[in-house]
Amino acid sequence: TKRTSEAATLLTDHSGRNGVYSLLMSHATGGPSLPQERKIVTAIPGPKSEALLARRQAAVSAGVSGMMPVFAVAAGDGVIVDVDGNSLIDMGAGIAVTNVGNSAPKVVAAVQSQVAAFTHTCFMVTPYEGYVEVCEKLNELTPGDHAKKSALFNSGAEAVENAVKVARAYTKRQAVVVFEHGYHGRTNMTMAMTAKNMPYKHSFGPFASEVYRFPVAYPFRDARPGAEVAASVISRIDKELGASNVAAIVIEPIQGEGGFIAPTPGFMPAIVEFARAHGIVFVADEIQTGFCRTGQWFACEHEGIVPDLITTAKGIAGGLPLAALTGRAEIMDSVHVGGLGGTYGGNPVACAAALASIETMAELDLISKAQAIESIMYERLTKMKAKFHAIGDIRGRGAMIAVELIKPGTMDPNPELTGAVAKGCHAAGVVVLTAGTYGNVLRFLPALTMPHHLLHEALDEIEAQFSAHS
Ligand code: PMP
Repeated sequence: TKRTSEAATLLTDHSGRNGVYSLLMSHATGGPSLPQERKIVTAIPGPKSEALLARRQAAVSAGVSGMMPVFAVAAGDGVIVDVDGNSLIDMGAGIAVTNVGNSAPKVVAAVQSQVAAFTHTCFMVTPYEGYVEVCEKLNELTPGDHAKKSALFNSGAEAVENAVKVARAYTKRQAVVVFEHGYHGRTNMTMAMTAKNMPYKHSFGPFASEVYRFPVAYPFRDARPGAEVAASVISRIDKELGASNVAAIVIEPIQGEGGFIAPTPGFMPAIVEFARAHGIVFVADEIQTGFCRTGQWFACEHEGIVPDLITTAKGIAGGLPLAALTGRAEIMDSVHVGGLGGTYGGNPVACAAALASIETMAELDLISKAQAIESIMYERLTKMKAKFHAIGDIRGRGAMIAVELIKPGTMDPNPELTGAVAKGCHAAGVVVLTAGTYGNVLRFLPALTMPHHLLHEALDEIEAQFSAHS
């Protein structure tokens, strides 16, 4: 169709810009969306991607990883189109970002109109309504009906750093409790909070101090009830840190990079209760789980948890960089004036995108769409688990589902098979991501607007790859 061929020729235009711009214009003016199909017309990578890979290798730091060997020119809902005209099924959504789909029509229109009005004034210099409205929406949508306030930042890591700053200022304490398998970012503070050494921390120390890591209730590898694991963690916090020294407990309600580990039921409520009883700020890091991803606005809602502070990013703005910290007004207001901020935090274009994304989530009922994706995935993956004994566990919620792979008959992680299945999918034009402390988790994070026929086709390919590698 027209858009696929337009996309395919984009990179032959050396200025690049005109082609991309006209593609966006066609999307924004209600032009046809990208054909929702897998179509492989060259080897993966094709010749144009090969040429770009060579330029990348010469120009881009080797420290930045690259999972797929193809370069994108367009993307929407369930597909990414590459420079050679291949249309790939996208089961990653840019790592849980394009929940509303890539270049969602309302997001495109809102961004275009804001970018033409003004691109930046700095909210700390000359404020604008969009920032305030995003904060109002966050205060309304996040769990709990207490008075809330928000502040906006650029990345998830920055939101987490600010959660620690606010919790320390409010409590006048220093210690921060985090959990095994947790991931919170790549800045110095958040590297300290992140559990996994390779690739996130290796050779980058020394790390920020006063960060303490404890076990999480990991259902697949620990059969104890959640409350029992929580009791042993709480006892250790008491003995090793002293509850009265703890500023914050930070946890992902479903651990993302750690392998989609939803702590055993009962674990988080017990930790929240302990935090409440000791004046510790309970922080939910919903950067990966937020904005309908798990079949609720926020994953805390599945266990009725009301965090004191909540960090969000990724899905918030349909692909534009924006992050937020939201929480109890008295905690958020405990910081001195000027203590929070940054040049770009809450950029007006990103705020316009966030408001359009949130509107799209409600309008398209993306909560139900995530739940429907969950049903399809559990049904299909459960059948695969019966067939392939390397699938040890299926877990996650909504459109955040993963399988943990083991060496059959053991509990030993199977990162080799995980890599082989992922690579096979990539070569066949299905973008899947891996995760997990042991590198043995295949994770699936489609856009919530993923058409079901493509979801099934992706699952067919995953199944074929398990067959080929079993
Ligand atoms: N926290 C969680 C739970 C995340 O999943 C991520 C990103 N994977 C981050 C923090 C860091 O976000 P960013 O990459 O935007 O800094």
